[in-house]
Amino acid sequence: MNYLILGSGIAAMAAAEAIRNSDKTGRIRMISAEQELCFNRPMLIGEFALDGSGAALFEKQQDWPRQFDVEVRLGCRAVSIDRDAKAVHLEDGSVETYDKLIYALGAQVTVPPIPGADRESVLVVRTREDMEKIRARMRQAKQAVVIGGGMLGLEDAWALHEQKLDVAIIEQKQRVAFGQIDQSAGNLMKKRIERMGVPVYLNASVTEIGDGYVSFRQEIPGAAAENPPEIELVTIPADLVILSTGVTPNCALGAQAGLAVTGRSTGEKTASGSTETGEDFVCGGCGACCGGLQTGACWIAVDEYCRTSDPDIFAAGDCAAVNGRNDAIWDEAREMGRVAGSNAAAGSPRAADTNVPREVVQTYYPEEPEVYVPVTAQHIFTGFDTEVFTMADSSGAGTDGVYIRHADVEIFDYQRERYIRVSLQDGIIAGILLINASELAPELMDAYRRGDGEEEARQIIQRWKDSHDVDFKPAAPFQHR
Ligand SMILES: Cc1cc2nc3c(=O)[nH]c(=O)nc-3n(C[C@H](O)[C@H](O)[C@H](O)COP(=O)(O)OP(=O)(O)OC[C@H]3O[C@@H](n4cnc5c(N)ncnc54)[C@H](O)[C@@H]3O)c2cc1C
Repeated sequence: MNYLILGSGIAAMAAAEAIRNSDKTGRIRMISAEQELCFNRPMLIGEFALDGSGAALFEKQQDWPRQFDVEVRLGCRAVSIDRDAKAVHLEDGSVETYDKLIYALGAQVTVPPIPGADRESVLVVRTREDMEKIRARMRQAKQAVVIGGGMLGLEDAWALHEQKLDVAIIEQKQRVAFGQIDQSAGNLMKKRIERMGVPVYLNASVTEIGDGYVSFRQEIPGAAAENPPEIELVTIPADLVILSTGVTPNCALGAQAGLAVTGRSTGEKTASGSTETGEDFVCGGCGACCGGLQTGACWIAVDEYCRTSDPDIFAAGDCAAVNGRNDAIWDEAREMGRVAGSNAAAGSPRAADTNVPREVVQTYYPEEPEVYVPVTAQHIFTGFDTEVFTMADSSGAGTDGVYIRHADVEIFDYQRERYIRVSLQDGIIAGILLINASELAPELMDAYRRGDGEEEARQIIQRWKDSHDVDFKPAAPFQHR
């Protein structure tokens, strides 16, 4: 069997390992535009900030191709897929054929259509090359602005702050880490970040990135609920701008080859005519939504076996979605890669059959296919003298978008600025949010996995409170939007 893997991220590597576990004799080739084999992307900015080279990140995989008998070709971009010929065309003009293709092309940082976003001073954090550009720019820069105050934006801001740059964060939503934390935690985070000298501008939309500055439009909420918000136009200095504005899945190659894609509209009109925010759509593989970068995230559609609409092509990682959902996290990409690789190799001789000659490798061995079980999202952030731990539905939004606060266990330690919140849905723990209380994480995670309810959550927190000198009160009421 002849396997071709596109990409060299965690999804691609997990797929290759899973194939090799099942098929000891098949030929596995991996092609990637990046110059490195998979490295720990989540550690990228932290490692560079530490020693300036990030070298430790890239050393670990040297022996991997030999260990798993994979032919690796780096620094080479795939430009099209010919499904009839079962071939992939590469940018250097060469063509690679396959029996089974694994599409694991990941995602790229979304560059919003802001005037000036193409300036040299505007950079992103995704690859080693990106980090090298940031390091070079940092040598002359004094004032940095991070656009996007999600968890990754906070990490970027913290790393730049550690490097002694003046940093500001601009966030479009009403709190930082909007997807992971609730408004109480958001207020607390803002206070702690600003106390360390990093201003956080909320409800702010960037209008222009100029030579040495960023301008934005900020909504300042009215003093009373009935007062309309005031709009301010603000300009702040910036000689280095980091965009942390979400990711766009690399699905264009697949869409252009006619693979089914799936997506979630951001509200703008797409080729499929979708206009309502959050509405699922199947755009039919036109490639316009992923190429245009503005109309919504669009992924290669896969089923729970990570099969695309073409039975010989599997897809995994940030570029693919099972049932229209992808959280763009490491564990999800790895697990999808494992499932895609296992199922691509199903029907090939397994480990015990390594003496089977190559010519009979394609003999069908009926196997139960591996099923992808969605991974529970977890986020950990440490910076600005603050530890944040979140798991599952930690912002309390509820999977169906219904706010579920009324039944929550929510506690504030005002003195030490600690915040604990356990969200409940139908009486069962649905999410965990801890600010400066990470010691509680292991027990609460176990309770979540067991499907425990409010009483168990309260007992865990009570035991912890009893062993700590804390001044907990129920959280002050606040307005949710
Ligand atoms: C800075 C940062 C911090 C993060 N922090 C966290 C975290 O704390 N926790 C967490 O769970 N997740 C985190 N993530 C997300 C996580 O890293 C990703 O979900 C994961 O790396 C996705 O893996 P992947 O294999 O799907 O894609 P990728 O790692 O993007 O790999 C895709 C590969 O395909 C290659 N490629 C793309 N197009 C082509 C082409 N046309 N031809 C050939 N090759 C191509 C790319 O060069 C790349 O090597 C973070 C991501 C970043 C960038």
